[in-house]
Amino acid sequence: MIIAIDGPSGAGKSTLGKMLAKKLNLLYLDTGAMYRAVGLAVLEAGASLENKEKVIEIAKSAKIELVGEPENLRIKLDGRDVSQNIRSQQIGQTASIVSGVSEVRKILVEHQRKLGNNAQNGCVLDGRDIGTIVFPRADVKFFLTAKPEARARRRFEEDSSKNWAETFEKTLREINLRDARDVSRVDSPLAIAEDAIVIDTSELNLTEVFEQMSEKIKEKFNLGGDLIK
Ligand code: C5P
Repeated sequence: MIIAIDGPSGAGKSTLGKMLAKKLNLLYLDTGAMYRAVGLAVLEAGASLENKEKVIEIAKSAKIELVGEPENLRIKLDGRDVSQNIRSQQIGQTASIVSGVSEVRKILVEHQRKLGNNAQNGCVLDGRDIGTIVFPRADVKFFLTAKPEARARRRFEEDSSKNWAETFEKTLREINLRDARDVSRVDSPLAIAEDAIVIDTSELNLTEVFEQMSEKIKEKFNLGGDLIK
């Protein structure tokens, strides 16, 4: 079973992806974390983001691993746990720039397909191009979206709880900038797959979105009440 969750930043993709993966006993892949890890590797190498050749070389040699249970997923870069380091706004912006390089996308998409196809029971992937490019034949495709202010508010509250928030206005600007880059890039822009189920989460809480997604999965697989409640 492959479940694709796409959408703009802060729409709740990763929280819901983790909840679904846990409930269905599937692997969870945070593909954004992979682009972030490449971004971090580029910054740490002191390479210029303009230097595409170097960025590609770094993406090729970076060993990126996602380990652990969905609710405690750790991201490793060349054996080092970088789960915290990749969450800054600076790395978010860097990730969105390196994700515009086609060769980088090719490397990571291949990695994502391999991990998804090898997952024992299946996989939940969240990103921007999962239902359109990575797994165009995914069993269920969701596109989660919400108004920019609602997404920035959530991201800001999440960051505040971890003590690394800046201001709400800065978070909103950061989200808008990344969204603009993600929808306008030439290769694999953020787009709604034709057969995706679109859910606007602006006015919904997590439980409500989770229930809607669970219902759709149940319908698709004719699941009884016990596998997913
Ligand atoms: O999901 P997250 O916000 O962590 O992603 C960071 C950045 O990585 C996004 O802004 C986007 O540019 C890029 N990304 C992508 N394709 C994916 C996942 C993330 O281009 N499948």
